[in-house]
Amino acid sequence: MELWYTEKQTENFGITAKITKTYVDEQTDFQKLDMIETEEFGTMLVLDGMVMTTVKDEFVYHEMVAHPVLFTHPNPEHVLVVGGGDGGVIREIMKHPKVKKAVLVDIDGKVIEYSKKYLPTIAGELDNPRVEVLVNDGFMHIHDHKNTYDVIMVDSTEPVGPAANLFTRGFYQGIYEALKEDGIFVAQTDNPWFKADLIQSVNKDVKEVFPIVRVYGANIPTYPSGLWTFTMGSKKYDPLQVDEASIPEISTKYYTPRLHKAAFVLPKFVEDLVK
Ligand code: SAM
Repeated sequence: MELWYTEKQTENFGITAKITKTYVDEQTDFQKLDMIETEEFGTMLVLDGMVMTTVKDEFVYHEMVAHPVLFTHPNPEHVLVVGGGDGGVIREIMKHPKVKKAVLVDIDGKVIEYSKKYLPTIAGELDNPRVEVLVNDGFMHIHDHKNTYDVIMVDSTEPVGPAANLFTRGFYQGIYEALKEDGIFVAQTDNPWFKADLIQSVNKDVKEVFPIVRVYGANIPTYPSGLWTFTMGSKKYDPLQVDEASIPEISTKYYTPRLHKAAFVLPKFVEDLVK
């Protein structure tokens, strides 16, 4: 008998993948966690019925969270990742020698534990000595660390369950205060096909807090609609002012120095959402 996993993206539409094995099917203290093997995309982490990452296409998301912001800040020594328990963003951050310390704060220790076990190519840098892993609520961590970080990356689940308050104006204000005077943050901000309202409200909130706000996109086949957005809020540095020629070569599969500014060129209907 064939088994298929379907993520319902709206009441009337979903994306589906053939499953060959189920490794984990567990309700943690915070969310439903599934680790499954798919024919097309390899091992897949699913939280509360939403695809978080797959071995085949994870590089797009993780590179595009980490590199645009780290190559915009001239000296990103202290970095915070909120969420991100699968370790993919940390793996990309570790490619930057300027980063002295990266702190990862995920609310759910089970995501970290199972990612280390079943997603070793993604989670492999979580034990790097430059990384500190904390199991805690990112909202609280931000609140308790004023003027601490050069860069903050919000690699959270969608705004339901434990991540609901990570998409609020109060959270962005907290991030502003947790950043140093020239700090920058980036957050994944979902897709413009099914979550246009969310992108608009995040954009409005971030603009109320940060003087420089930029939105960019990437193509991620296993995320709803395939077109994903990221929102950057900055106190001083503008990603569009970065000199591409000054970006050093690092090993990537999606991000390139040429893509650094190009990713900020949005399709018209997305541009209209964030005007
Ligand atoms: N790349 C994914 C996406 O966009 O679909 C998200 C990655 S997943 C690793 C997000 C992580 O955020 C989960 O491990 C979850 O436990 C964590 N998370 C959710 N709410 C959180 C909170 N309030 N504080 C810290 N981590 C949180």
